[in-house]
Amino acid sequence: MDTKRAYIDPEHPDPAVLHEAAALLRAGELVAFPTETVYGLGANALDAEACARIFEVKGRPQDNPLIVHVSRPKMVDEIIAHWTPAAEICARTFWPGPLTLVFPKNERIPDRVTAGLNTVAVRMPDHPVALALIEAGGLPLAAPSANLSGRPSPTTGSHVWEDMRGRIPLILDAGSCNVGLESTVLDVSGDVPVILRPGGLAKEDLEKVLGPVELDRPSVTGVPRAPGLKYRHYAPRGEMYVVVGPKDHVLDRMSEEIKIGRYQHKRIAILCTLESAPQLQLEQPDLLYVLGSRTQPQEVAASLFAGLRLCDQRGMELILAEGFDEGGLGLAIMNRLDKASGHKVIRV
Ligand code: AMP
Ligand code: MG
Repeated sequence: MDTKRAYIDPEHPDPAVLHEAAALLRAGELVAFPTETVYGLGANALDAEACARIFEVKGRPQDNPLIVHVSRPKMVDEIIAHWTPAAEICARTFWPGPLTLVFPKNERIPDRVTAGLNTVAVRMPDHPVALALIEAGGLPLAAPSANLSGRPSPTTGSHVWEDMRGRIPLILDAGSCNVGLESTVLDVSGDVPVILRPGGLAKEDLEKVLGPVELDRPSVTGVPRAPGLKYRHYAPRGEMYVVVGPKDHVLDRMSEEIKIGRYQHKRIAILCTLESAPQLQLEQPDLLYVLGSRTQPQEVAASLFAGLRLCDQRGMELILAEGFDEGGLGLAIMNRLDKASGHKVIRV
């Protein structure tokens, strides 16, 4: 299949391009589009066959449900059984934004979308192109991240091109995503809201309006309540380790690992903070990728997936990443690093 990659200005999305994309979606085709979190691979959420194509194209496990994207809270009414007070507060406070809410579904949403669950995950993205596309199609869009299953999520149009070229008819390219990590998935159906997947909206921000919020810890409970979390994800091809602890200990351990890796003739990448870069550069890794300043976690979040992809592009065989505190966005950053490394986290 020929894939068209069309630039779309996020400030002034071209109506002709939106029209073309919306027509494809209405005809049951897939279109990749930018959101503020990562790029999405969109299909008409009410069309079971189109949604089945998402799973085929990505190689996504069949039991991993899709998030449905809407452009107005009113659109949610068409696909869910009912709102809860907590869901209403969240939608009013945080939408559009990087927060996905899990609702009891109604019969209009195909089982394909929810992987047979009786709940549906819904989000209103904070990106002018995503919102304009949903409006142009007049349809809710089921959209997981537009990467091949297992790879780091795409945060630029080039990342989508890398993974989706030849597989879908159209990629809307609006440059880089601002947030760079997927949305926080929140179950608001019970008495206490539960974060099923940490993401671009911090737990602390949710707690400011909701009171105490729990975190689903699959490592403790065994089975994650967000089915997708049990799969290997975000993984670069090289062997990856995350080193966590006080800065001096982390730097010492990373230097030691670089020396061992060099002795083994490995191509070595370092993903680190701005603050640690000068010292780690002295060890002369093959790639030193600065994630951002330790004081600017949103910078780190926005650059993380691009860094993991760069490691693959440059053929890195050993990847050492500096760990982060788990406060604020740090929780989601550490969740992605943990998964990317296949849980190879070294505490020093
Ligand atoms: P992705 O769109 O690839 O970023 O993944 C969406 C995440 O949301 C996956 O971890 C899913 O398992 C999770 N998810 C989607 N729908 C539901 C649902 N109804 N209940 C719980 N988790 C969900
Ligand atoms: Mg994904």
